[in-house]
Amino acid sequence: TELGLIRNFSIVAHIDHGKSTLADRLIQLTGTVSERDMKEQLLDAMDIERERGITIKANTVRIDYPAQDGKTYVLNLIDTPGHVDFAYEVSRSMRAVEGSLLVVDATQGVEAQTLANVYTAIEADHEIVPVLNKIDLPAADCDRVAEQIEDVIGIDATDAVQISAKTGLGIPDVLEAIVTRLPPPHEGDRHAPLKAMLVDSYYDPYLGVVVLVRIIDGVLKKGDRVRMMKTGGTYGVDRIGVFRPKMTDVAELGPGEIGFLTASIKQVRDTRVGDTITTERKGCETPLPGFKPAQPVVFCGLFPVDTSEFEDLRDSIEKLALNDASFSYEMETSAALGFGFRCGFLGLLHLEVIRDRIEREYGIDLITTAPSVIYHVYMRDGEMIELHNPADMPDLTHVDHLEEPRIKATILVPDEYLGDVLKLCQDRRGEQLDLTYAGSRAMVVYDLPLNEVVFDFYDRLKSVTKGYASFDYQLIGYRQDHLVKMQILVNDEPVDALSVMVHRDRAEARGRAMCEKLKELIPRHMFKIPIQAAIGGRIIARETLAALRKDVTAKCYGGDVTRKKKLLEKQKAGKKKMRQFGKVEIPQAAFINALKMD
Ligand code: GDP
Ligand code: MG
Repeated sequence: TELGLIRNFSIVAHIDHGKSTLADRLIQLTGTVSERDMKEQLLDAMDIERERGITIKANTVRIDYPAQDGKTYVLNLIDTPGHVDFAYEVSRSMRAVEGSLLVVDATQGVEAQTLANVYTAIEADHEIVPVLNKIDLPAADCDRVAEQIEDVIGIDATDAVQISAKTGLGIPDVLEAIVTRLPPPHEGDRHAPLKAMLVDSYYDPYLGVVVLVRIIDGVLKKGDRVRMMKTGGTYGVDRIGVFRPKMTDVAELGPGEIGFLTASIKQVRDTRVGDTITTERKGCETPLPGFKPAQPVVFCGLFPVDTSEFEDLRDSIEKLALNDASFSYEMETSAALGFGFRCGFLGLLHLEVIRDRIEREYGIDLITTAPSVIYHVYMRDGEMIELHNPADMPDLTHVDHLEEPRIKATILVPDEYLGDVLKLCQDRRGEQLDLTYAGSRAMVVYDLPLNEVVFDFYDRLKSVTKGYASFDYQLIGYRQDHLVKMQILVNDEPVDALSVMVHRDRAEARGRAMCEKLKELIPRHMFKIPIQAAIGGRIIARETLAALRKDVTAKCYGGDVTRKKKLLEKQKAGKKKMRQFGKVEIPQAAFINALKMD
């Protein structure tokens, strides 16, 4: 296809503003999929994505569009993830296209992720067409939201396209805007050596790894031998094609085009996102700039509730890792939990997604230990150790100081909840950087320790603002602080899975809260159980769980047999989700819940 007839674009939006629905409509209206094959949210393939309404991996689709000028254009849509954890995936797929549709829910206005994503688009030099969605709803206020886009983002919104992705109203205008207002790909040279960007990849059980590519220069053909410039791997190309959105073979992919290749690549790990693909011989000399592999930032231990399922867990983790290069794992042994894995994730959502998939797709009940960030531990001898697990904290006498990662968090919130948000950020050791107004909403920017955010910050934020706040963050660097390792002892035995790193000034409060929670969460035993928090050898908080009365069913006052039976059954079911620590059984739920802060 000649460059002038190609439009490559992405859709940027805050979660739930209608990105996937709009993508579906564009595909439907251009007849890319027959009515029979159309199902909602075509581009969101995974179950969890569907349930949570989020798109995790970037997806792509090619649409042929006969425009009003009489020419047929090729539109390539890359659908990017909308969640903070996947910021790197967004930024890299943005570099594969020239324009963006900025979708804003006209009943809600600009949100934190709208800002984060649109800034990424601006950084990638995109032309941007604002689209106001959900105009079918009575609460839609296009004038106000257009003004907000101009004030807050600083782009012209006078010609914003007004649509309802749900009813289909305005979709033809979106298609015309893509053709007339977004630019074609920048110059690409067909006769130059192949230079293609690796945009994304995924594992297909039949085809092996499928690689999504954007051609910059040259032509990619079936049978070519290609080389990944960063990883150095070389492969023979088996198949090339485009997504419509079903995989459809094509003879070649030329400059400006987006498509896929397969080359009997065994694992996703061999295909680094952002890498440059060229031919093995007579290839291009300089790779594309800006490559960086995605790095895990949140770590936690995953252990099977049932120790006999360790091999199954290993199997499931290896399978999932084949398809997700941003997820890391290594075997871990814990005195209390036995064999498991220490895993690294891009963020909490990523952690939850992987954990859910293991539990659901592989049927393994898991104990998840406290999520931790990577601390930098500076030893007295000058060495620096990256600490991924509080259990590995070196002996304090050898430690000079610790540093922790900090983030810059941007939160948009209606005025009435501002006070609660400021309090939450202060409570989490935040330092305010900025407070301004974006339309009717306050925009607060905080410098926060990542460790205070990884656990339940997002949940807390949602609850104190009744869901009205939006949040986005980026890592800004490491900073020294007074951090200590706090251990929890149950019946005098340390439970390393509950060890956490905390700020010294907050250790007592945190320790007390954890002991109180555990007292609620651990069922009574025949003996009394002390639950303690300690720093080094020093106890800083203590609760005692009283001993159980002899007969659990005694409180049913004899008569009601079915109630008695139910109670016993409940106990039995509960047993399965318990783990033994010394003489004490701790339910799986305790590991996560004990760490939540109120
Ligand atoms: P995404 O998270 O940006 O991909 O948003 P979705 O496309 O999944 O849409 C989020 C929700 O908004 C879904 O329940 C959609 O049905 C709904 N939605 C999307 N567009 C419209 C619209 O134009 N009008 C109305 N009323 N609802 C919409
Ligand atoms: Mg979506």
